Amino acid sequence: MIYLDHAATTPVPRAVADAMYAVLTEQFANPSAQYPMGLEMKKQLAAWRRTIAGALGCDPKALFFTSCGTEGDNWAVRAALWQNRHLGRHIVTTAVEHSAVLEACRWAQQDGCEVTYLTPDAQGNLSAQAVLDAVRPDTALVSIMMVNNELGNVFPIAEIARGLAAKNPKTLLHTDAVQGFLEVPFAARTLGADFVSVSAHKIGGPKGIGALYVGPRVRNPRPLLPGGGQEDGLRSGTEATAQIAGFAKAVELRLSGLEETLARMASLRDYAVEQLSAIPDVQILGGGAPHILALSLAGWPSQNIVNDLGAQGICISAGSACHQGKPSHVVAALKLAKRVSGGVIRLSFGPETTQDDIDQCAAALRRHHDTRMPML
Ligand code: PLP
Repeated sequence: MIYLDHAATTPVPRAVADAMYAVLTEQFANPSAQYPMGLEMKKQLAAWRRTIAGALGCDPKALFFTSCGTEGDNWAVRAALWQNRHLGRHIVTTAVEHSAVLEACRWAQQDGCEVTYLTPDAQGNLSAQAVLDAVRPDTALVSIMMVNNELGNVFPIAEIARGLAAKNPKTLLHTDAVQGFLEVPFAARTLGADFVSVSAHKIGGPKGIGALYVGPRVRNPRPLLPGGGQEDGLRSGTEATAQIAGFAKAVELRLSGLEETLARMASLRDYAVEQLSAIPDVQILGGGAPHILALSLAGWPSQNIVNDLGAQGICISAGSACHQGKPSHVVAALKLAKRVSGGVIRLSFGPETTQDDIDQCAAALRRHHDTRMPML
């Protein structure tokens, strides 16, 4: 099998599964328990939090575990609207956010908030100025993703943060960094965002665990889940210790040799662009992050491509895995010609991806082009 869908999810390395297995079977105590095994788990939990916070570039006290990236996104939106409830009810976001943010904003709209959805240009780029121009005195929240999961474009979060501090310092800034964490360099401490959400399963960790960085400008946040008081009283529920152990181990593995890994992934991406561009009717879209490559085989429906390559053991995606079967709102936002937008596929790479994977994928795509009739 050739797996080129790392932006959807990633394989868990053996060492990560082993770390989780040990916690599930041997070190299974509740970290709140008062006997030695519980106290030991509490220490372990603190160590795992330090590892993940170190990679995110923040104080461990500013990092809160969540059940996934979606939860972190929802929490950030709610927390910002709560803190700024007296400032106003306006949100600035983009039309190309993950549905975790878009749906949280739609819920907020039902509660009376007004949302401005910014659209990137045809290359998928969005300028900091466009974001700042949309900010008003009553803007409670700006939520802009760090890396677009379908196109790979990197949005200028630090520049937006600087501009926001000058224009409207009370407005809170959230960035969904689920596709940015350990893929593009940043440190939460210096980025300038008040909330940064991440997810373990995009970087070799297990599904069902994420984290939210909450910066110092967020004061007395309302608990997301009231209950037993875990996560500093903000997000109760017995800590998912095995998941967190796996998350920390995945971070540790990714961190070692990260620069070389990212450089190798970026050059693989360039190689893929070169190989795929040689296929007639291929149009490369967007781009920026080292692990995501979006392109269109203009005229050939993307679902047919995904099915055809899938039958040959090549896993790619017709967009975000969360939107199976529906046209992608991200591609729609680019306002491309129908034959281009209908043929969009995404390849996404991980540390395990090889040049041979790309060669085989390019050969299969060329065969698809040469043997199937265009239908768009
Ligand atoms: N945000 C982005 C940009 C994503 O790509 C994803 C997952 O695809 C999510 C949020 C949701 O993360 P999770 O699957 O952990 O809920």
